[in-house]
Parts: sequence; structure tokens; C-alpha cells
Amino acid sequence: MLVHGVSRINIAIDGPAGAGKSTVARQVASKLGYVYVDTGSMYRAVTLYAQRNGVSANQSSTLQQMVEQLEIELIPTSVGQMILLQQEDVTALIRTREVTTEVSHYASNEHVRSHLSKLQRELAINKGIVMDGRDIGTHVLPDAELKIFLTASVQERALRRYKELTSDNYIPLEQLEAEIATRDKLDETREIAPLIQADDAILIDSSYIGIDEVTDLIVSLSQKKLAEVMG
Ligand code: C5P
Repeated sequence: MLVHGVSRINIAIDGPAGAGKSTVARQVASKLGYVYVDTGSMYRAVTLYAQRNGVSANQSSTLQQMVEQLEIELIPTSVGQMILLQQEDVTALIRTREVTTEVSHYASNEHVRSHLSKLQRELAINKGIVMDGRDIGTHVLPDAELKIFLTASVQERALRRYKELTSDNYIPLEQLEAEIATRDKLDETREIAPLIQADDAILIDSSYIGIDEVTDLIVSLSQKKLAEVMG
């Protein structure tokens, strides 16, 4: 799409937890001068709000009312994306284990999904977006010009998370692996918009290649795609 002489595309990056999507998406956006949108942070914000208000994932109609009046704002900053929930900065709070182990249950709710998908589509309307998630290429932005499915073995993904832990938030590697596998299963088997590779997505397995190489690969794929789009 040509906007004031500048052509931009949308890039969808999907894949399971811990495959490196957010780092790669942030780096790709920064190299291309695009905006990075982390859709997982939106599901996490809904989960945090529900937990704070004692709403469980199976209270569907309460969740519907709740999510429709929630104010969620994503603010791009030089160090990543900041997320505001009812104007409160919850960027760090949405990363706790309490949220991480519960988020897939809230994310399987149809009202939560349809509301957040709508917000996500609005964010991408002017192109120049790198959006990461689980259903971006299949449901949120089925017309994204470039779709990537980024994955890695569950052992490798758990090991990466394990290396990021400090003594304050230590979790045994086997437990991390089990938690990631459970989240994968919930995301892959839910009824609405499950985690699945789109037919036209390019599969990249980051088990054996570094995150910087993955970034460079996606940047070059997007430049190729842009040239194609511009004819
Ligand atoms: O990407 P992140 O690991 O932060 O996502 C947290 C959870 O949010 C995922 O495990 C999934 O349940 C949900 N999610 C989703 N659809 C997206 C993004 C995230 O269902 N597009």
C-alpha cells in the first residue's frame, strides 16, 4: 500500500511461547521503522484485570462485559512496547507467573478474542505494523503481506526462558518445560482461532539459528515482499 509515497506492508509473526517472536518482531520493526504490536500483552492485560476483580475464565458473560469496557493502550517506546490498562502502566505486572499460567484460559473465551482481534485490526489499518501472536496470520490479519510462523523445540524454548531467570524468580527447568507444553496445548486445541501455521506463512525454526539471524532473514523477506507489492 502506498501512503504519501512511502510503501509499507504488514508483517504477522505467529508461533508458540518462547520461540523468540517478541524479540524478533521488535528488532524487525526497529530495522524497518515499523511499529511493533505484541498482541499477547493484550491477553495478559485482560487476564490481570480479571484476576484482580475475581472474574474466572469460565464466567463468560461477565468477561464479555468486562472486556468491552476495558481501556487498553499500547505505547511504542525506544525499549519496547508499554501497555496501559485503565491508564495504569502494567508492562511489568502482566509478566508474572500468575498471569502467565492462566492467560491461555482467558484467551480461549470468544468475547475476549473477538474484542481484542477488533482492536488489533484497527492498529494495523495504516500498514507498517509487525504484529506477533498466535492467530495473526490466520485470523487477525489474514491479508498481511508477509506471514512468518516462528517455532523451536519445547526443550529449546524452555531452556531460553530458564536462562533469563534470576534467583528471585527461579523455576526448575522441567517445570518450565511442562508449563510451556501445557500452554502450547491449550493454544493449539482451543476452538476459536487456535495456534496453527497459516497456509501462506513461511516456517522458521529458531532451534538452531540465532535470533539476530532470524531478524535479518525476516527483514530481507519483507524487503523482497515490498518490492513485489510495489511492482
Ligand atoms: O505471546 P505471549 O506468550 O505473551 O501470549 C500469552 C498468551 O496469550 C498465549 O499463550 C495465548 O494464550 C494468548 N494469545 C492468543 N492470541 C494471540 C496472542 C496471545 O491467544 N494473538
